[in-house]
Amino acid sequence: MAYAPARFDDARIRVNLFSDTQTRPSRAMREAMLDAPVGDEQHGADPTINALCERAADLLGKEAAVFMPTGTMCNQAAMLTWCRPGDEILAHESAHILTSEGGGVAALSGAQITGLRGGRGQFDVATLEAGFRDRSRYEPPQRLVAVEQTANFAGGTVWPIDALDAVAASAHARGLATHMDGARMMNAVIASGVSAAAMSAGWDSVWLDFTKGLGAPLGAILAGPQAFIDDVWRWKQRLGGALRQGGMCAGACLYALDHNVERLSEDHENARLLARGLAGVDGLEVELPETNLVYFDTSGTGMEAAALADALVEQGIAISVMGRHRGRACTHLDVDRAGVSLAETAFHRVVGAAASARAG
Ligand SMILES: *Cc1c(COP(=O)(O)O)cnc(C)c1O
Repeated sequence: MAYAPARFDDARIRVNLFSDTQTRPSRAMREAMLDAPVGDEQHGADPTINALCERAADLLGKEAAVFMPTGTMCNQAAMLTWCRPGDEILAHESAHILTSEGGGVAALSGAQITGLRGGRGQFDVATLEAGFRDRSRYEPPQRLVAVEQTANFAGGTVWPIDALDAVAASAHARGLATHMDGARMMNAVIASGVSAAAMSAGWDSVWLDFTKGLGAPLGAILAGPQAFIDDVWRWKQRLGGALRQGGMCAGACLYALDHNVERLSEDHENARLLARGLAGVDGLEVELPETNLVYFDTSGTGMEAAALADALVEQGIAISVMGRHRGRACTHLDVDRAGVSLAETAFHRVVGAAASARAG
């Protein structure tokens, strides 16, 4: 999974579609951070982090929750807690834990991840069950099934609730634990109308990220049963993730829950607008977005995705490169309709210029 960044920090960038991680905390969010009461989180004494954990546990329908600096630490601490070295985790072959965390699961928990296939970044019960192994001295002990909501590299696709429930039930029947990487779960909630608690019901551990569409500068919440969260706390301490006056950051996350969830529908609408616009670009094959990630294939334009991204930077537009011919444009709270239309114009100009250059 290539992830070569365009030069998105370039002063020329006017519309940053590189990722929803590119949002800057708004003035109002910064004020919420300034005003947040703080204490020493390591000692359980940060009132804002405690309030955020309680609210997030409630939102996700779990007994307890813990604040983490990043989503990656949520995934890694969860894998460390669920798995012992040699254990096997089943996840989609495009999963972030498998493709994008520096081999962290192998390096830290010593578990191995087996990638399952399936369209839209999802796998069905039959595929999962075909992946079940006999219990013997020879085969790796299977411990965990993990899913991603939304499935990032499959186009920000939303797992339907019935599929989530069926996969979780099958995992549990086999004695496996279940984990949901909910980096963009609130996008799935807004797109589907299914509550976060309902979506999380079959999943023993689940987390959500505040630094994607929710627009906070840092922070993620990992939730699950109390005993699990107690064990996660040991890993948080060991990994250096136990904080001091982290309440300033949790203040931004609480602000995000109050102000930046419902508005995700605007990002989804902008993504659909952008996809429709880009579909009119000669040779560009655009996937219809379910949420805020617009993936496209550049093969038919005669350009590689990296060349397209570089040329777009000259036009003030940043996108990300996900493969030789695969690009991604991501909408978020710092991209408005005018930005979508600027981007569309720039795509037309760049692809048109490349076609003329070849013809000329
Ligand atoms: C971004 C992302 C992560 C990692 O979150 P960070 O907060 O960047 O560490 C994990 N999983 C998915 C699906 C993501 O998109």
